[in-house]
Amino acid sequence: MKEYELVSGLETHVELSTKTKIFCSCTTQFGSEPNTHCCPICIGLPGTMPKLNRQAVRYAIKAGLATHCTINPIAKMDRKNYVYPDLPKAYQISQYDKPLCSNGYIELKNGRKIRILRIHIEEDAGKLVHERGDTFVDYNRGGVPLIEIVTEPDIRSIDEAIEYVEKLQLIMKYIGVSDVKMQEGSLRCDVNISVREKGSESFGTRTEIKNMNSFAFMQKAMEYEFERQVDLIENGEQVIQETRRFNTDTGETAPMRGKEDAHDYRYFREPDLVTIETSKEEIEEIRASLPELPEQKRQRYIETFGLSEVDADILIKYRKVAEFFDEAAKAVGNPKTVSNFIISQVFRTLPTDAEKEAFDVRITPQSLIELIGLLESKKINMNVAKSTLDKMLQTGKTPDQLIDKNDMGGVDANTLTAICQKVIETQSGAVQDYKNGKEAAFKALIGGVMKETRGKADPMQATEILKSLIG
Ligand code: ADP
Ligand code: MG
Ligand code: ZN
Repeated sequence: MKEYELVSGLETHVELSTKTKIFCSCTTQFGSEPNTHCCPICIGLPGTMPKLNRQAVRYAIKAGLATHCTINPIAKMDRKNYVYPDLPKAYQISQYDKPLCSNGYIELKNGRKIRILRIHIEEDAGKLVHERGDTFVDYNRGGVPLIEIVTEPDIRSIDEAIEYVEKLQLIMKYIGVSDVKMQEGSLRCDVNISVREKGSESFGTRTEIKNMNSFAFMQKAMEYEFERQVDLIENGEQVIQETRRFNTDTGETAPMRGKEDAHDYRYFREPDLVTIETSKEEIEEIRASLPELPEQKRQRYIETFGLSEVDADILIKYRKVAEFFDEAAKAVGNPKTVSNFIISQVFRTLPTDAEKEAFDVRITPQSLIELIGLLESKKINMNVAKSTLDKMLQTGKTPDQLIDKNDMGGVDANTLTAICQKVIETQSGAVQDYKNGKEAAFKALIGGVMKETRGKADPMQATEILKSLIG
C-alpha cells in the first residue's frame, strides 16, 4: 500500500469573555435559564440596531498580537446569510474580506510554524437543545462575541493538530480574553482534513468535521476520517468535499451537508455598522498590555533558571502555577528547588488537571520562600523541608509555626556516630542481611537513624558513618 500523509487546517471559535454581548448590552453569562439573556437586538427583531462592543474588538486585537498577526487599522463587518433556527435574523454578522487580524502563526515544539491566515470577530448563534423528542432553541448564546482563528493547511499530523489547539488555548488563557473551555463550548474547533500521497506537492480534496468539543473526540474523528479517505482513494473512489459530523457513539463521521461556497452566503457589508478603525496608538497600547506569553516564559525558565524542558512545560501549562512559581522563584537561591517542590509534592495534592488549573492550595509563595530559605541556609535538611511542606499543605501554617527550634540545625558528627552505633546494635538482623548482600536492608538502617534524629540527619553523612561502622 502507498503511504499517505494527513493535511489539515483548523477553524477555531473562541468565545470572548466580555461582560456583555457583541451588539447589545445583554450579559454573556453561561449556564442560566434558557432565553433569559435576550433582548430585541440579539433575537433580531426588525427595526433594532446593533452597536459594536469595543471591548470585543480590543480582545480580538490582543489575540492577534499574541499570535504574531498584523492588525488591520481598517476592518468592517459583513452579513453572512443562512437560514437555520439557531439564527433568528437569518444572517450572522461576521467579517468577510476585511478581518481584524491577518498573517500570524503559532510555533510547535518541532519548530514548525502553523500559519494563521486570519482572525475575525463575529456573533455566536443560539443553541439547539434536543429533548423529549423535540428540538428547542436557547438564544442566550446568540450574540456572544466570538473570534474565529483560521489556519493555513499547514498541519501534518493529529498530534500537531492537538498541540496547535493546546497552544492556542494556553495563549488565550494567558492574555485573559476567554476561558477557552472546550466542554462548555467556549472553544470549538472545525477540523478540515485531506490526505495525499507522501511526497506529493498538491493537496487532496478536503472534508470539514464540525464542532469538535474535546481533544479525545478530535483525536478519534481525525483518525477515522484519515482512514476513511485513504480507503476511498485506495479503492479508486473520490473524496467528496463536504461538511461532516462526528458521531460520538459510533466513533464515525457522517455527511451533514454539502460544502457551501462564499457565494452561497451572499456576503455583503453590514449596513448598520460603521467601519472599524483602530489607531496605531491603540494597537501599541494593547501590545504593551500583553503579559509574558507561555512560549517566552518557557524560554526564560529554561535559560535563566536552568529548568529542564519537561519541568518548564509542566509549570507553564497552568497560568496560576506559573504565577506562583515566578513569585517564589525570584526570592530564593535556586529556583529549581521551587519547581521540584511544586511538581513533586504540591501536585501530589492536586491529582486532576482541573485542580492544578485552579491551584487552590494552602501555601503561599512567601511561606515556600521561608521554607527554602531555611533549607538553603542549612538550618534544616531536605527531609525536614519535605515533611514540613506536607504539613504546610495540610494546615496552611508557615514553617515558623511548624518547625520546632530543636529541629533546626543538623546533627553533629559525634552525636550522629553514636546514634548510628545504637541503630546497628538494635537492628542486628538488618545488619546481617546487608552483610549477606541485601542492599535493601540498608534502607532500614538509614530509616532507623532518621527516626532517632527526627529527620534531621544528613542521609549522605549517615550512610558514610553506617558503612564505616559495619565495615
Ligand atoms: P472556507 O472559507 O470555504 O471554509 P477556506 O479556504 O477558507 O474555506 O479554508 C478553510 C479551512 O480549510 C482553512 O483552515 C484551511 O487551512 C483548510 N483547508 C483548505 N484546503 C485544505 C485541504 N486541501 N486540506 C486540509 N485543509 C484544508
Ligand atoms: Mg469554513
Ligand atoms: Zn441582547
